[in-house]
Amino acid sequence: MSISKKITLSEDQIPTHWYNIVADMTTKPLPPLHPGTKEPIGPEMLMPLFPMELIKQEVSTEKYVEIPEEVREIYKIWRPTPMFRATGLEKALDTPAKIYYKYEGVSPAGSHKPNTAVPQVYYNKMEGVKRITTETGAGQWGSALSFACGLFDIECDVYMVKVSYEGKPYRKIMMNTWGGNVFPSPSMRTEAGRKILAEDPNSPGSLGIAISEAVEMALTDESTKYALGSVLNHVLMHQTIIGEEALLQMEKAGDYPDVVIAPFGGGSNFAGIAFPFLRKNLEGTHQTRCVAVEPASCPKLTRGVFRYDLGDSVGMTPLLPMYTLGHNFVPAPIHAGGLRYHGAGAIVSQLLNDKQIEAYSIKQLECFEAGLLFARTEGIIPAPEATHAIAQVIREAEQAKAEGKEKVILFNLCGHGHFDMTSYEQYLAGNLVEHEVTQEEILDSLAQLDTPTIG
Ligand SMILES: *Cc1c(COP(=O)(O)O)cnc(C)c1O
Repeated sequence: MSISKKITLSEDQIPTHWYNIVADMTTKPLPPLHPGTKEPIGPEMLMPLFPMELIKQEVSTEKYVEIPEEVREIYKIWRPTPMFRATGLEKALDTPAKIYYKYEGVSPAGSHKPNTAVPQVYYNKMEGVKRITTETGAGQWGSALSFACGLFDIECDVYMVKVSYEGKPYRKIMMNTWGGNVFPSPSMRTEAGRKILAEDPNSPGSLGIAISEAVEMALTDESTKYALGSVLNHVLMHQTIIGEEALLQMEKAGDYPDVVIAPFGGGSNFAGIAFPFLRKNLEGTHQTRCVAVEPASCPKLTRGVFRYDLGDSVGMTPLLPMYTLGHNFVPAPIHAGGLRYHGAGAIVSQLLNDKQIEAYSIKQLECFEAGLLFARTEGIIPAPEATHAIAQVIREAEQAKAEGKEKVILFNLCGHGHFDMTSYEQYLAGNLVEHEVTQEEILDSLAQLDTPTIG
């Protein structure tokens, strides 16, 4: 038995600034385009959707943005989050690699999402917003936003992808407990939802559809704004608090990572842990590989194309430059609900195109197997999303063993899996099926795109 070592920080070490990687990027991300005119949009087009302060952050080129005092006070509920050296896992793998992980599951909602939910709701509150709408896949983002809206006494309407709404009833009740209203998507409440249901009454829903519904509700009411839990620049920036703390903790541990690994949905937890380390790469002082891991059933980074695409299914969001499988892509209902999004954020897409980061896709059985080994050696039951990072960590650790090389690995354990027991149940019963999207399905979805290409 070997007990993993915890590396902690004190409250007064909570970082005072978020890091905006755009300031350091060699190729800046391309601008968002108007879905109709296909011309670059100005910040004013986003004003019906977001408070001004978040729009400023979205287009900011400042290297650091100060975290408001009130947000830092709330962060203290769960931050700084612990880092662990995974000696139990290392021993089980009999690897010369040192494995560290940052644990974001200690937040009230059980994932990294509150890191951005709290500042987003704070800026909305400052600007007099009364209600915030959003979408949620697995329920993590809806929970985080409901929690934050509860703190600031703002109404919260969550459109939850129908398969998750049905499969994860306790996520819904969690949102209700914090005061959030939850609707299965597609719903009859919006034009977007009604249109989808008319075409396919049994639609399992998708994040793209749920976004259309939440955006429509914000556009049609003046005191209502919209919030997104991933993809956008300001969301990725808020998450860099993870990596800023991790830099301090690695220093305390007396190590520096050769590779940083995180699961990838829209890019926020990956950006959160990786961008502060990428800063050191871009400043020329270090060379850390930054690795994003996506499911084989929704592989936009490894098998999608880099071009402009819509953020939603119906066409209400601006066109963003992204690695995408096409906005009509409806991923198979695999259990890592948080990774079922058709596209990647503009910043991470540009970084991947510039080969500053790496991406891999892994099938779900390997991921669950990795998750089980982790739970049995380190104690924490990982969210299915997080098991994608763990599977890649194991591949890296086994490679280190084969080469007889030391290697320092850091990964983001972005959430716990306490609400995902049905998927663990299915895995343990041997009922979880392997799934990989076919080339035909991808080409089919991409053939439907008529959005501008890049380069
Ligand atoms: C939302 C979520 C993800 C995927 O979103 P990213 O923006 O890519 O981080 C991954 N893991 C967990 C636990 C989540 O809640």
